Order: sequence, then C-alpha cells, then structure tokens
Amino acid sequence: MPPPQQQVRLPDWDALKLRVRTLIGSHRVMIFSKTYCPFCRKVKDLFHSLGVECSVLELDKTDDGPSIQEVLLELTGQRTVPNVFVNGTHVGGCDQTFQAYHSGLLQKLLGAGKDEEMEPYDYDLIVIGGGSGGLACSKEAATLGKKVMVLDYVVPTPLGTTWGLGGTCVNVGCIPKKLMHQAALLGQALQDSRKFGWEYDQQVKHNWEAMVEAIQNYIGSLNWGYRMALRDKSVTYINAYAEFIGSHKIKATNRKGQETFYTAQAFVLATGERPRYLGIPGDKEYCITSDDLFSLPYCPGKTLVVGASYVALECAGFLAGLGMDVTVMVRSILLRGFDQEMAERAGAYMETHGVKFIRKFVPVEVTKLEEGMPGKLKVVAKSTEGSQMIEGEYNTVLIAVGRDACTKNIGLDKIGVKVNEKNGKIPANDEEQTNVPYVYAVGDILEGKLELTPVAIQAGKLLARRLFGGSNLKCDYVNVPTTVFTPLEYGCCGLSEERAIEQLGKENIEVYHNLFWPLEWTIPDRDNNTCYGKVICNKLDNNRVIGFHVLGPNAGEITQGFGAAIKCGITKALLDDTIGIHPTCAEVFTTMDITKASGQSIAQSGC
Ligand code: FAD
Ligand code: NAP
Repeated sequence: MPPPQQQVRLPDWDALKLRVRTLIGSHRVMIFSKTYCPFCRKVKDLFHSLGVECSVLELDKTDDGPSIQEVLLELTGQRTVPNVFVNGTHVGGCDQTFQAYHSGLLQKLLGAGKDEEMEPYDYDLIVIGGGSGGLACSKEAATLGKKVMVLDYVVPTPLGTTWGLGGTCVNVGCIPKKLMHQAALLGQALQDSRKFGWEYDQQVKHNWEAMVEAIQNYIGSLNWGYRMALRDKSVTYINAYAEFIGSHKIKATNRKGQETFYTAQAFVLATGERPRYLGIPGDKEYCITSDDLFSLPYCPGKTLVVGASYVALECAGFLAGLGMDVTVMVRSILLRGFDQEMAERAGAYMETHGVKFIRKFVPVEVTKLEEGMPGKLKVVAKSTEGSQMIEGEYNTVLIAVGRDACTKNIGLDKIGVKVNEKNGKIPANDEEQTNVPYVYAVGDILEGKLELTPVAIQAGKLLARRLFGGSNLKCDYVNVPTTVFTPLEYGCCGLSEERAIEQLGKENIEVYHNLFWPLEWTIPDRDNNTCYGKVICNKLDNNRVIGFHVLGPNAGEITQGFGAAIKCGITKALLDDTIGIHPTCAEVFTTMDITKASGQSIAQSGC
C-alpha cells in the first residue's frame, strides 16, 4: 500500500512520467534546464556551436517544474539541471556532456540515426595558419600521436609580395628584422674598429641588394626546414586558404582556386596579423609595409616611416644605420604601452644618430612624383593639434601603424566563434578555448595577449599537450620578457614605471637606476651617458622586482636571464647579493644603489 501522499499524486505522477518520457523520446536533443543556470547555458552553447538544434524545457518557467525534477530523479538518478538526453540516451549534467563531447561519444550519440554523421572526422586536429603558434601546436599534437593537418596561405600584399611557410616571424618579422639590425650594427662596428687599430683603405659602402639576397636565401632554408619538420612528424601540410563552412568542417582553396573539404574533431586558429594601411589616397598604391621591406629588390633610399611603435622604430633604426636618410612621423607618443622614460631615451639615441622625428603629424595623402626603383613620392601630412599642413618628398614611405588580426574572412560567423568587433581579436579562456568548445586560438589573434613569437609557440605547444597529452599546464602570459631592437636595444620584463605607480601607488614602489658606459664604447669615445638601466621594486612585498628595464647593446641577451630571475621572484636584496660579471653591461644591475626618488646624479665619467 503506497503512503497517502503518493496515493494523492499517483494519477498525475504517471501522466507526468509519460510526458517526460515522450519529451525525451521525441527529440534528438532534450535538455531540462533553468533559465538562470550558467551550466545550462554552457551546455546549450555547446549544442549551438555544433549546429545541433535542441529542445529545452526551462523548469523554472514551468508550473510543474519541481515535479518534473522528481520524475527525472526517478528515471536517471539525477535531480540537478542541466539534464541532457541525446537520441533517447541519458548523457547527464554539464560536466558529463562536455566529457562525452571531448571523448567523441556525444558526436556518436548525435549521429545515431543519421548515417553521414556517423562518419569519423578526417583529422583529430586541423590548424589554420602555419606560423609560430600553428607550427608549434601541430608538431606537438603529431608527436602525441594525433592525425594533424596544417593549412598555411599567404595573401599577397597590394604590391604582390608573398613568401613561404613559417608565418610572420620567419619571413617578414623577427628574423629578417634582426638580421637587418645586425647589418646596421656592423656599420657602427666598422667605424669603431678604426679606433681599435684596424686600417683599411677602400671606401666602405653598403649593398642593399646583397644583404637582401643573403637574408632571403637564409629564409628560404628555414621555409624548407619547416616543410621537412612537418613531413618528418607526419603532419599533412596544405598550401591553401582555409575557411569554416560548417560545424567541424572547412573549405581549403589553393592558389589555382581548387577547393577541397576537410573535417576535424578540434581546430586551432593561428592566422596571425597583417599590416594595417592608413586608408588615405595613395597608401596601397605607393607605400610599402614591413611585409614588403625585407625582400625589397632595390635600396629604399630616403624613407618616411609612419608610426611609432616596435615595427616603426626598429625599421627606421636599421635603415638609418645602413645609411638611409630616415624620418619617423609620430602621431602621439613613442612605443605606446612601454615605459615612457625608456621609450624617449631610445628615441633620443636614434635622433642623435641621424633619424629625424616629425611629431604630432599624420599623413593625409601620398602621390607619385617619379617612377623608379625607388621612385619619388610626395607626402602631405596634417598636424594632430591644429590645421597646419606640411609636405615632404621621399623615395619610400613605410607604413607601420599597427596590424589587423586575420579573422574576418575565415567563416567564424558560420560556426558562431565570437570575435571582438572593434579589433578583430578572438576572446578565449585561459586554456585558449574560444566560445565554441572545439575551436581554440593561439598567437597574435588572441585578445589581450602579447604579440610575440615565443608567446605563440609556448601557447601552441602547451595547448596540444593539454588537448592530447593529459597535461594541465597553461601558458603563463605574465612577466614575459621582450626587447625592441632599436639601434640602442631596449629590453624589459614586468611593469613599466607608469603601470607600477598606477597599480601600487608612487609611495609603495622604489626605483633604482643608473647610466652605464659599455667598455667597448670607451675607446671609440662614443655615447657616454646614454645606456641606462632601472629596476622597479615593490616596497610592500620585500622589495620584489616588478619591473626590469635596460637600454644598451645586447639588451635582449641581458633581459632573457633577468626574465628568468623575475619569474623566480627575485628581490632587490637578491640582486645586490648577486656577484656581477666584469666587465659587462649587465653587471650594472648587481650594483644599483641610487634611487630615482633621491634625485642623486647618475652621470658616468668612466667605466
Ligand atoms: P603568424 O606567424 O603571423 O602566422 C600566421 C600564418 O597564418 C601566416 O602564415 C598567414 O599567412 C596564415 N594564414 C592566415 N589566414 C589563413 C587562412 N585563412 N588559411 C591559411 N593560412 C592562413 N616577435 C618577437 O617575439 N620578436 C621579434 O623580434 C619580433 N619582431 C617582429 C618584427 C616585425 C616586423 C613584425 C611584423 C612582427 C614581429 N614580431 C616579433 C611578432 C611575431 O612575428 C608574431 O608575434 C608571431 O609571428 C605571431 O605568430 P602567429 O602564429 O600568431 O602568426
Ligand atoms: P602597434 O604596437 O599596434 O603600434 C602602432 C603604431 O602606429 C603606434 O605608434 C600608433 O600610434 C601608430 N598609428 C596607428 N594608427 C595610426 C595612424 N592612422 N596614423 C599614424 N600613426 C598611427 O603596432 P606594431 O608596431 O605594428 O607592432 C605590432 C605588434 O608586433 C607589437 O604589439 C609587438 O608585440 C609585435 N612586435 C614585436 C617586436 C619585438 O619583439 N621586437 C617587434 C615588432 C613587432 P598611437 O600611439 O598614437 O596609437
């Protein structure tokens, strides 16, 4: 005899059970949910991203919602929501649904009754973009035994420049940039060498074409090396442009316009960025960007560089070092986001070494005056502070005003991947997963992350290990060391002085600083009191070093080691306790005892 309570609801109870069973049985995907539950939303988003329609019963909006929960408890042993059923099979709550998705079970359940969806995916992983992040991720995934494809395709610049496998860093970024920087440094070394006793009669001049040929040959060998590495690891490489055409499916279009189609369980977006243009008359017709510069078949001659960040200052620096007449047109400040004292010091060194700066002006029109290699261009520019207009004639105009993420024409709208409309960047969680669970993103296209090669590589490699190697290690985007390869290199790690003050308050930080004179510069007697180092310490945390900045030769080499020390949590006391290496530039950081607050002179008179 059932208890009285059950006796009362028995007829309704059976009817309700039948109703719930019918709902489960008659829908491909049935989700019992509550409107305010974030886990329910996550599960619904998952099915949406898979392009699968689901039926949802919001129990908080249904009169007999609590009773339906009781029925579900009896049927499945689960009272909580979401409660998910696929083709009549009970999957479970949010965690179980995602587990089923990651193991492929969910896809199998979804496919039951629909033959085409039973077909396995072509690949475990498809990576779109064969640059720093994409190559690292694909090679690691293949090493872990997965079936991987990489697609890489370079859309030619408006002037028709294109290049091989490896992405920005190898072809039109770090590698040719650092080699041209080196070519410029050698020019300075040649001048210094006379003071060290080297005697040579012949006139020294630089041959642009010879330099470009040597650098491009080296890049060619790197492109080849990347292809071989992919082949060795059995990664399928396709030189084609990829775009999503549906859930888990892409179309690849090669140079001849031939289309092929591929599916994969997971996708990694690593499409990087391309230089932005100014959007003024003549920019795409007559100007070049960094994408054209490093393979330019003729010497650029008198050059106007537009922009004032990394790319602009680095290119302006080596062009001037190679003997070009160079002007930089700055819209506002140098190296936005960097410590401004350091940025101004780096700029001042460039200025004393022949680079001209036009501040607070932007170009409004570029016209061609003469054909040639190089030809002659006229640039009209407007003040950012008033109506003043100026004009100038240059052989080459290099636009370096930032880069746009390549996320527009890859079909992300077709699968629902969210993109920041303002900057084209892709938001992702701390595991590089986008809002569509099977799509991940690494490298320059990630929102709010650093645009640096080692960052893209680290993120790509660790992502593959988490996806396929059982690892849970995430990419650490904090305190990443970096260096700007201006003629006087600027290396840094951690916070700028402005940022430290903003975060902790001026009274809670101590800045130690000093000028230094590299021993190598003493004999040629050049540039005393220009190299500079500073460390920013947090007084509230045992004087822990929270910012490291160095302006001097080989700043990249110096900063790398201090970057490791900062990761280990180095304090000012530990820096003082470190014995320096003499005679080096880096030793200045082991003997810094002048605080900026003291106002004491830091000028050097000897080594
Ligand atoms: P990328 O390396 O740009 O690779 C993306 C690849 O995807 C490209 O080959 C692209 O053609 C391809 N692609 C795009 N869309 C598609 C598609 N739909 N289908 C197929 N393929 C596609 N970083 C440093 O750490 N140190 C430096 O010194 C340095 N110097 C730089 C100098 C310059 C001039 C520039 C421009 C950048 C520099 N960087 C430097 C930044 C560094 O190059 C980038 O951070 C890094 O290359 C980003 O890697 P990624 O994998 O995100 O993209
Ligand atoms: P960026 O950091 O975005 O800087 C863009 C520059 O262009 C700024 O100076 C900006 O001035 C200026 N600008 C923007 N629009 C302009 C306009 N309409 N007219 C005139 N000036 C304009 O771009 P980037 O130098 O191309 O560098 C991109 C990324 O590549 C960097 O963030 C970096 O991570 C990476 N990179 C790294 C290295 C390295 O590690 N050594 C080297 C190169 C590049 P405002 O300040 O006024 O906005």
